[in-house]
Amino acid sequence: MTALLLNGKELAAKKREQLKKDVEELATKQIVPGLAVILVGEDPASQTYVRAKQKACEQAGIHSVLIEKSNSITEEELLAEIDRLNEDSSIDGILVQLPIPDHISEQAVIERISPEKDVDGFHPISVGKMMIGEDTFLPCTPYGVVEMLKEAEIDLVGKHVVVVGRSNIVGKPVGQLLLNEHATVTYTHSRTKNLREMTNLADILIVAIGKPEFISSEDVKDGAVVVDVGINRVNGKLVGDVDFEGVKEKASYITPVPGGVGPMTITMLLENTVQSARKRS
Ligand code: NDP
Repeated sequence: MTALLLNGKELAAKKREQLKKDVEELATKQIVPGLAVILVGEDPASQTYVRAKQKACEQAGIHSVLIEKSNSITEEELLAEIDRLNEDSSIDGILVQLPIPDHISEQAVIERISPEKDVDGFHPISVGKMMIGEDTFLPCTPYGVVEMLKEAEIDLVGKHVVVVGRSNIVGKPVGQLLLNEHATVTYTHSRTKNLREMTNLADILIVAIGKPEFISSEDVKDGAVVVDVGINRVNGKLVGDVDFEGVKEKASYITPVPGGVGPMTITMLLENTVQSARKRS
């Protein structure tokens, strides 16, 4: 069997067309959605991500503001910047590009963003609401994964989902969202014993660990759906956490890297920003 592709690039393009229309409709009510991105320091990967977010905003007609700060900014100054954006009525979404320098508490920054503008979905209030299934901003990468599975009409009810990785931004929330969709969820991580036995139980395997091609065909059950969240640069080339060539011969569906989960992440950020702007009207 050769797996069908879960094409995130295509779905992202379709969603962005719809978002453009949503933005046009908001314009008839004199509303232009606004996203503020704070970038601290000069990490090249962060700069690339921020540029991509700005470009995507521009294409969708979303007003984007980039606030660049040097590595020497104090926590107090950064929090004051967030306060200012919380008060700015032209801004519907605020995100601070992570990582931030060690002398600033990441949690303090996340918690300072008003939950009404928390388009990354990292604030504890957003996380708590997601957990109890209340309407809130969903974290962009996990949200994108669920949207891809739904677009392919993959039945989630009662399915055994195995998540590899338990970070706060990907692993934990993706499992929670799929639990909310009535899947049965197992979390695995670096301390898991017999990882291969676990992953072989998965109807749907979600991998988010940051280790190039770590998951091989021997880790995957015949006919499983495999979602590769990993983005790793190896010899200048992007590869996922899954050995795509090997696993695609065994899986029923698989996400490519690049062109899978990646393009969905920014799209869901735009969607959250537009959703936030709608609440203004
Ligand atoms: P983190 O480094 O925060 O978390 C990695 C997780 O993987 C941890 O829970 C860790 O376990 C687990 N892990 C590490 N090694 C192993 C192993 N050998 N076996 C089992 N579990 C292991 O990473 P992120 O969640 O932030 O990101 C994961 C990947 O996804 C990265 O490649 C990142 O670039 C990518 N990513 C992609 C996005 C996209 O848009 N497509 C968005 C965000 C991330 P433990 O907790 O025990 O340490």
